[in-house]
Amino acid sequence: MKYSETKGRMGAGKHVTPLIDSKLQLVQAASSTNGLAQPRRAIFLDRDGVINALRPDHVTAWNAFQFLPGALAAIRQLSLLDLPIVVATNQSAVGRGLLSADGLADIHRRMVAQVELAGGRIDLVVHCPHTPEDECLCRKPELGLFQDAAERLNVNLTESYFVGDTPSDLGAARQLGMTFVLVRSGLGATSLAQQPVLAGQVDWLADTIAEASQWILEHENAVVETRPERQAA
Ligand SMILES: [Zn+2]
Repeated sequence: MKYSETKGRMGAGKHVTPLIDSKLQLVQAASSTNGLAQPRRAIFLDRDGVINALRPDHVTAWNAFQFLPGALAAIRQLSLLDLPIVVATNQSAVGRGLLSADGLADIHRRMVAQVELAGGRIDLVVHCPHTPEDECLCRKPELGLFQDAAERLNVNLTESYFVGDTPSDLGAARQLGMTFVLVRSGLGATSLAQQPVLAGQVDWLADTIAEASQWILEHENAVVETRPERQAA
């Protein structure tokens, strides 16, 4: 296996906190001084199987990162909303020694750059680098990634959206009371086939992130339209 030269280097220390890609902290710095502001809602996106094609052998280099059809346009659409967009992703490839922390940060920088080139934005990427055996507090369905993003961006998780493709994503969303959209891309279709009950536990089922994005935009429009009535009541 060609990754053997890095294997074992990364997994030695046991981490219990999620790692943040440093280049993406500019937004956080701006918002962290505003501790008294009302927590805002956010849109959380899983990465593999939602934004980019799932690979059974992990995405360990940028040339293996393939945006799913319509994903860039979907993120551009979501960027029209005045809500932070956060990518929350389990990346056990790091803990398995298949990919260095710097290598993952490079992939995420390029991903964000491509999103920006397409007219969209990603405000924050949070990832868990651990393996299941690490029993950390950030690997979804654990909540560490969400709690960390919430602190950094002053986010009200319960009022936030999450688009994911796995029961782990759904598990985290349900614990936090988030509005969850399950996509059939990635592991979504397989998960639904294995556990049909999942369909009844999600707020919306979408084929792709494009459909999920459309639903969120419609949902947001509905929220905006009902706001004046609420205020008047
Ligand atoms: Zn973790």
